[in-house]
Amino acid sequence: MQVRNFLFHRVSPKSEPWGPAISPARFRRVLKVLKSLYRVCSLEEAYTCSAPGRRPLATVTFDDGFREDIEYAAPILESLRLTACFYLVVDSVESGRPNWSYELPRLFHLSARRQLRIDCENPRELGGIFHFESPGALLTFGKDLLSRLRYVPHSVASNIYEQVRKQLDDVPPGPTRMLNWSEARELIGRGFEIGSHTYTHPYLSRVEGDVDLAFELGASREKLANELGFPPQSVSYPFGDYDRRVAQAARASGYRLGFRVGQVFADNTSKERWCEPRVDVYADSPCLVTLLRITGYLEPLKRVLRR
Ligand SMILES: [Zn+2]
Repeated sequence: MQVRNFLFHRVSPKSEPWGPAISPARFRRVLKVLKSLYRVCSLEEAYTCSAPGRRPLATVTFDDGFREDIEYAAPILESLRLTACFYLVVDSVESGRPNWSYELPRLFHLSARRQLRIDCENPRELGGIFHFESPGALLTFGKDLLSRLRYVPHSVASNIYEQVRKQLDDVPPGPTRMLNWSEARELIGRGFEIGSHTYTHPYLSRVEGDVDLAFELGASREKLANELGFPPQSVSYPFGDYDRRVAQAARASGYRLGFRVGQVFADNTSKERWCEPRVDVYADSPCLVTLLRITGYLEPLKRVLRR
């Protein structure tokens, strides 16, 4: 049977340039559309159901573990009698801070520094002493750097992140704003699922060593099991990034499901469940695009328009 898995990040009245959010009112509207089109259920039900119904199955998932999940998203889901799975990054739960993919853009948006020195031997072009004439120039540099970090080994990316973080220290730390263990346990008590979004939120295909990959996948699962009382059944790959090695490591770590990003239906009869697609419901898309994405018409429409 077909399953359409949906991915959200933040539901909040406050959107930020470095972290766009869907407003609570819009999230409610999106869920109502989902409910009218699909039989929205838990991951457990979606991947064990064999009885076809009138409507295709769908699931709702959240990445990154912002506290807004429990403040805004959970009450709206409950009011519509829907459930969801929330994916947590262990480091973020422990520190209360968003992962580096939010923090780095925040620093580039807010810093007034005019110079940055990056030491990097390989690839050499990422290193150098960079001067910026305006905050806009720093921001442009930051966006470019972020897109390049996608393609370098994880150890290089995290080293550069630490260098940038130390130099853009005129930006005060943001507020602690992530779900803590007690709130995660509360969500489980209210009938929601919790899954792993790794330990530190790397591009998993760029994590070089098998030990480090096992740490991101296996140790995060163990930590969640220790804190929540039972191991999570599924993992969401940060940025949807995965390859064959990552999928195999997720399986070896004990997960029954692994999630990437993909604008297609999943097949719940597939034996290979470690690269299941989820439709990313981007917070900053226009309403019509979101509607087309939810209904599954966006990709066919794009193909027609490309012809
Ligand atoms: Zn993430």
